[in-house]
Amino acid sequence: MKICRAKHAASGQPRFAIIEDGTVHLFETDVPIDSLATTQRRQSVPLADVKLVAPVTPSKIVCVGRNYREHAAELGNKMPEEPLLFLKAPSAVIGDGETIELPGESGQVEHEGELGVVIGRRARRISADEDPLSYVLGYTCVNDVTARDLQRKDVQFTRAKSFETFCPVGPAIVSDIDPLDVQVTTRLNGETKQKARTSTMAFSVPFLIRYIAGIMTLYPGDLIATGTPAGVSKMKHGEVVEVEVEGVGVLRNEVN
Ligand code: MG
Repeated sequence: MKICRAKHAASGQPRFAIIEDGTVHLFETDVPIDSLATTQRRQSVPLADVKLVAPVTPSKIVCVGRNYREHAAELGNKMPEEPLLFLKAPSAVIGDGETIELPGESGQVEHEGELGVVIGRRARRISADEDPLSYVLGYTCVNDVTARDLQRKDVQFTRAKSFETFCPVGPAIVSDIDPLDVQVTTRLNGETKQKARTSTMAFSVPFLIRYIAGIMTLYPGDLIATGTPAGVSKMKHGEVVEVEVEGVGVLRNEVN
């Protein structure tokens, strides 16, 4: 199933929808994210007649640092013994096709292409006999945009990770991929900068969901950014950055 949020000219408000073969099946505006699979109230319109927006409006974005060995090494960091977590402000979310704005406070804004996990139902202390993946609605592309100079300067990551537009997400959420082994690729102006399979993560997606839900309650629509492969690089005005997750699609944003 391929889930998006879309604006249809007739309604104006973004609504969840399912994309199928060039057709968008729009739900009513009040259908919550954890009821999409069981709700039949839909309006079907051609894909060309809608504008896609970011597929989630998370209550929080939980990010994982140093989850790929080569990326930790390129920044001169050791691998953590447990997942290194930080939060990114939900107000930073933008969708496919929107513009990443470079803030004047930073001289080194970098891309971090990542597999995104979207939570489908409330998760709190997942028991040993439960599959953490059963809490997932689906997977998406995330660009964990980072002001690297400010990240180095500050003791923690909040400022470097949370400027407006620093969290492109999308274009859609896809439920039927295997998060344990898909390719994540990031291109800057068409040139491949980052490329790795999720099978090389230090901490797998199921491990991360169980670990995070042991700390904080995960709500439907919450987003986990699972860490970035090696190859992060600076983005400049006018460039175009693309994050592609195999089986999900391409998240494309201009930088300005
Ligand atoms: Mg990251």
